[in-house]
Amino acid sequence: MDVLVLDSIQKAYGPVKALKGVSLAIPEGTVYGILGPNGSGKTTLLSIILDVLAADKGSYSWFGKPGSKEQRKKIGSLLETPNFYHYLSAVNNLKITHTISGRGSLADIHDVLKKVNLYERRNSRFSTYSLGMKQRLAIAAALLGAPKVLVLDEPTNGLDPVGIAEIRDLIKLLRENGTTVIIASHLLDEVEKVCTHVAILKTGTLITQGTVEEVLADEDLLEIAAPDLEALKNQMARYPGIDSTETANGLLILKGPKGSINPAAINSYCHGAGISLTHLALRKKRLEARFFELTSN
Ligand code: ATP
Repeated sequence: MDVLVLDSIQKAYGPVKALKGVSLAIPEGTVYGILGPNGSGKTTLLSIILDVLAADKGSYSWFGKPGSKEQRKKIGSLLETPNFYHYLSAVNNLKITHTISGRGSLADIHDVLKKVNLYERRNSRFSTYSLGMKQRLAIAAALLGAPKVLVLDEPTNGLDPVGIAEIRDLIKLLRENGTTVIIASHLLDEVEKVCTHVAILKTGTLITQGTVEEVLADEDLLEIAAPDLEALKNQMARYPGIDSTETANGLLILKGPKGSINPAAINSYCHGAGISLTHLALRKKRLEARFFELTSN
C-alpha cells in the first residue's frame, strides 16, 4: 500500500516554477529520500504534502484519501527546527509541544525520549544540549502521538559526523518499527546510507524514482595493466561480459554491470594467454558520478 501519492503537483512563486508537475508514490514501510540539489523544490514539495503551502495544480492523498485533520495526525513532521525553550528541560519542552499540538499524551513523552536516546538527559536544560541532541529532541517532538509517517527536511543539516550517525541510527530504528520515513536531502551519501527508495528532483522535475539500488545502480570498473597494454587490450576484447574498455594513464579500464567482473577469473585468463598483469584493481563506479550524471544537463 502507498502511504502517499502525488499526482502532477505544480507550484510557482511568481515567475519561478518550483514544481513542474511532480507525480510520486511512496510505499508503506520505506525510507523514502527526495534527493536534489539546492533549489530543486524539495522543501516546496514537503510543504505542500504537509498542508503548509497550497499547490497551484495537481493533488495528493495520504493513505488513499485527500488530506484531512484526522489523516494529519498520522503524520509527524520536521520542516524546520522548532523553537524550544532554552531554560526548560526536554520533558518540559515536550509537555509544551504536546499541549500546543494536541499530539500524543503526557505518558508518550518518556517513550519518545527513549526512542531518540535522550531519556538519560530528559531533565537537563535544552541549552546544555549539543546540536545533535537538539535535533533528536525535535524528532522526538515529531514522534509524539506515534505517527505512521515521519517527514523530515534535511535532518542532518549542520550536524557533525557523530550527530549524523545518531540520526541515521534513529531512522533505521523507526523503519524497523514500521514507520514510513520521508526525507528531503541534498546529500547523496545520506540517502544512500539510510533510504530504501529515492526520487531525484531537478529544478522542479522528478527525473527518476525507484529503489536506491535501481536508481543509483553502479557499475564495476576493473583497472588492469601489463607491460604491453595494446596486446592486453586486444586480448580483453575477446573476453565475454565486458561492456567497454578504455585506456587511461597506462591502465586498461574494463566496465561492466555491478557484480559482473571477476578479477580472479580475468587474472587467470590473462595468465593463460601469456600476459602477466602488473596491476589489478576493482573499483566501484562512484555513486556521486551517477548522481552528477542524473542531475547535470
Ligand atoms: P534548498 O535545499 O536550498 O532548500 P529545495 O530543493 O528545498 O532547496 P525549494 O526551497 O523548494 O528547494 O525552492 C525551489 C525553488 O523555489 C528555488 O528556485 C527557490 O529559490 C524558489 N523559492 C522557494 N521559496 C520561495 C519563495 N517563498 N518565494 C520565491 N521563490 C521561492
